[in-house]
Amino acid sequence: MPNKDTAIEVTGLQMRYGDHVVLDGVDFALRRGEVLVLLGPNGAGKTTIIEILEGFRARSGGSVSVLGIDPEQADEAWRARVGIVLQSWRDHSAWQVRELLSHFGKYFGPYSTVERPRPIGTDELLHLVGLTDQAHKKVRDLSGGLRRRLDVAIGLVGNPELLFLDEPTVGFDPKARRELHDVIHRLADMQGTTILLSTHDLDEAEKLSDRILILAGGKIVADGSADQLTKEFSNQTEVIWTQDNQRHVHAGSDATTFARKLLAQHPEGISNLEIRHASLEDTYMNIVQTHEANSKAQKGDTQ
Ligand code: ADP
Repeated sequence: MPNKDTAIEVTGLQMRYGDHVVLDGVDFALRRGEVLVLLGPNGAGKTTIIEILEGFRARSGGSVSVLGIDPEQADEAWRARVGIVLQSWRDHSAWQVRELLSHFGKYFGPYSTVERPRPIGTDELLHLVGLTDQAHKKVRDLSGGLRRRLDVAIGLVGNPELLFLDEPTVGFDPKARRELHDVIHRLADMQGTTILLSTHDLDEAEKLSDRILILAGGKIVADGSADQLTKEFSNQTEVIWTQDNQRHVHAGSDATTFARKLLAQHPEGISNLEIRHASLEDTYMNIVQTHEANSKAQKGDTQ
């Protein structure tokens, strides 16, 4: 019996391309109203997961439920409940922004139900993504950042319950990035849209997420809010000091005790004593490298 509060449930998801195992038992769930960020290095399998959830790609194994339905069996009515932001709508460059959005809006009319009363009106949508001033511009005259906002707007036309965004800010300058982040915050806050977003950028994951999943070596290797992950994984510290003109480093989770003992044992002769806490970024890099190395080693064993 599907749980009403669960938007996505993934169990034991497997994906192979020929001999290449990309996903090797991925498990996670996404609650309604949550903004979940799938974080992982390039090639980790983020796009593969998102395309499987969108129903664009057939999985090799495991079970997947999106809004209570297996995407491989999904129909048009299900598609109308799911928003997808594709890489870019370059083919419509001669259309005006407003014209394009209201055109897509018409498509969703037949799928309005009591539970899903209406598509978002074109003006509301333009406002939501911050394109009101560009409503009458041609798509080809928009900057990259503004065009990406239009991509998001198209994904939202049907007022989806669930929105997928695959690496939405790749290639953005910092201003365009911040603006798109604002759009995503607005969506979550004002519309209560459930969002699954992928990125390889830790900073973006921290800014946008309620919860982060880290994907590495074909598995989810960490799952929690940015704060939880920081606490759980960033307790590694380094004590760095100079003695007899030599630089020393001690890594561990006992920095204060270690530094006290060091000073007690060598009351003179210690200089440049420093305690450094690993940042979430250091830790993320560490986790990813360890899992990728393990997964390569395992593949080596089985070959
Ligand atoms: P990410 O989105 O995390 O960068 P992808 O899901 O795009 O990762 O890719 C994961 C791995 O799967 C990569 O090694 C990629 O080369 C491989 N891959 C993706 N699509 C295909 C395909 N259609 N055929 C073969 N290999 C693929």
